[in-house]
Amino acid sequence: MNIHEYQAKALFEKYGVPVPKGVPARSPAEFESALSALGEAPFVVKSQIHAGGRGKGTFTDGFKGGVKFAKTKSEALDYANKMYGNTLVTAQTGAAGRKVQTIYFTKAADISKEYYLAILLDRNTSKPVIVASTEGGVEIEKVAHETPEKIFKIFVDPAVGLQGYQARQLAFQLGFTGDYFKNAVKLITNLYRMWWETDASMVEVNPLITTPAGEVLALDAKVSFDDNALFRHKDIVDLRDLNEEDSKEIEASKYNLSYIALDGNIACLVNGAGLAMSTMDIIKHFGGNPANFLDVGGGASKDQVQAAFRIILTDPNVKGILVNIFGGIMDCNTIATGVVAAARELGLKIPLVVRLEGNNVAAGKKTLAESGLKIESADTMADAAQKIVKLVA
Ligand code: ADP
Ligand code: MG
Repeated sequence: MNIHEYQAKALFEKYGVPVPKGVPARSPAEFESALSALGEAPFVVKSQIHAGGRGKGTFTDGFKGGVKFAKTKSEALDYANKMYGNTLVTAQTGAAGRKVQTIYFTKAADISKEYYLAILLDRNTSKPVIVASTEGGVEIEKVAHETPEKIFKIFVDPAVGLQGYQARQLAFQLGFTGDYFKNAVKLITNLYRMWWETDASMVEVNPLITTPAGEVLALDAKVSFDDNALFRHKDIVDLRDLNEEDSKEIEASKYNLSYIALDGNIACLVNGAGLAMSTMDIIKHFGGNPANFLDVGGGASKDQVQAAFRIILTDPNVKGILVNIFGGIMDCNTIATGVVAAARELGLKIPLVVRLEGNNVAAGKKTLAESGLKIESADTMADAAQKIVKLVA
């Protein structure tokens, strides 16, 4: 689960990670009072969407910049009115962009230098890793590619947590001295504690900055949480913004289905994440494009299968469906019954290819054959993929 910058910064403050003062506004009626609460100009007006690259983004009406420096209050109001309700396209949003529904007004900071700081889980070492660079405010992928020596990594042993010497080592590598050094060590230590205690999967501060006054501040904040740990963080779940999520993915989560929307035209309904991945691969292999990843899980019910079909079919790009089930725990006939019920309920008009194998497969195939519906049956994955690719061509 992702949260907005203004929400992430509220968490930062709670953990003692300094940020420039800011006030969010959820409607134009709140703009004036938000700015008054901030005090004197200059301000930075920031569009709140769950995607980075806002500063370099462009709105669909041609207005440039989702993050704007404003010298006066009236300039800030003007920018906020241009951003609010407008759709921002950045390198991370895709062409459709994201509608801005919250504006975050912040005090402009006096930037001496920009740095990069992130905490995430390193899957190779199974350890938390703190990644930092002296090159902030730019794309970190580019830095990693062109000047890898400017990126520093600290691996944390999860059994003992971040050690004081590690935070100092990182601050030293980044070239901090004096007050900056002390403040950077404190910030790194506090940010790590936040990452750990909130079960965050990633915290990214780009840029982290220094000011002439000796401060080290988080100017931007991107935080995402491990969905599997949300059950123990009710206060974080409350920060969820459904406007930022795919409506199909929200619906899927209600039925405990793992669904990710993609941009192809062949919908997949599969049990098990590994099989779902290989199903997408084989569709690609035969020249097709998957419209989604969908794992109905090991023990899906007829209701879940019906819900999965409904969700798949709300995607207007879908031109055909491939059901690929391996009945291990799953009874193939349960799937077949769900598929037939869903196809009837929804008056399915697009091609449907079903490949069933495993537990109770004969009964499952019988249910499909006797349904009277136009369902193409397949024996192997290759056969199934070739059939659906041909049918949507
Ligand atoms: P994004 O990464 O989505 O483009 P940022 O919050 O990083 O958004 O803002 C883009 C740039 O705007 C930053 O790299 C920084 O140079 C500038 N900026 C952002 N917030 C402030 C601020 N409070 N004061 C001064 N400059 C800012
Ligand atoms: Mg940024």
